[in-house]
Amino acid sequence: MWLAHPCYDPEAHFQIGRIHLPVAPTCNIRCGYCVRSVGALENRPGITQEVIRPSKALSRLKQALTLEPRIQIAAVAGPGDPLANEATFETFALVKEYFPGLTKCLSTNGLLLADKLPLLKELGVNYLTVTLNAVNPEIGERIYTRVMWKGHVYHGLEGARILLERQMEGIYQASRMGFFVKVNTVFIPGINSDHVVEIAREMRDAGAHIMNIMPLIPLGIFSGLPSPAPNEISRVRAQCLPIINQWYLCKQCRADAAGVPGEEPGREVQQEACPYPY
Ligand code: SF4
Ligand code: SF4
Repeated sequence: MWLAHPCYDPEAHFQIGRIHLPVAPTCNIRCGYCVRSVGALENRPGITQEVIRPSKALSRLKQALTLEPRIQIAAVAGPGDPLANEATFETFALVKEYFPGLTKCLSTNGLLLADKLPLLKELGVNYLTVTLNAVNPEIGERIYTRVMWKGHVYHGLEGARILLERQMEGIYQASRMGFFVKVNTVFIPGINSDHVVEIAREMRDAGAHIMNIMPLIPLGIFSGLPSPAPNEISRVRAQCLPIINQWYLCKQCRADAAGVPGEEPGREVQQEACPYPY
């Protein structure tokens, strides 16, 4: 039985708060669109005012709960990959000890997911968001320029193959272990835009529960690409909906976002009502 979560349940999106605790600066891959920044004012993933330690995350959480009692979700969402940072696990252990009633959730690129699932289970994390942008390594190699795996750095097709294999294993195992799994796919014009329906099929077959197709924010090596038009995103979501449930309300939040997401200004491109109650 799933608890209400503002990023998985459309009604909860406007009623329940979440806090992203920015304890995870390191990442183990390199996505072409990634530009992380500490101290920037932009409103997008990879941005935080500061990176904090687990002890400070706990005091920030305490303060946030006083200011916004509707916060029910404690999450780690960067600014790097939460699973590549020990501080993520230390933070969840503290949250579990001091705020056992909160729901715990994290986002990841999935490289380390299968390895970390038993620990996440033990820590009481039950919602996972995995960003997966290709199920074909030949497309993946155009998106991921570097993959750090077991102490080695891989580039090109080899890196993309390793990442995909670990992502699929992680999603498959997570769904079978009882985690709620959302897949984020960044819609990258001309790179994976004709591939998203295939991703949806593979994600359904792997056991993911819902898919969140997000428009590319053109940055990094993709800074020359166009921002997808809202109707392109709507069209691909409509194509994927018969395959796997779709999430329509993502705000592409900062790594230190806090509050009720449905009440925050964001870069929401769609205001469609979600047809499925989760
Ligand atoms: Fe950046 Fe996230 Fe990609 Fe890592 S997984 S490179 S933090 S976008
Ligand atoms: Fe929710 Fe999207 Fe913000 Fe994550 S990034 S908290 S899914 S609205």
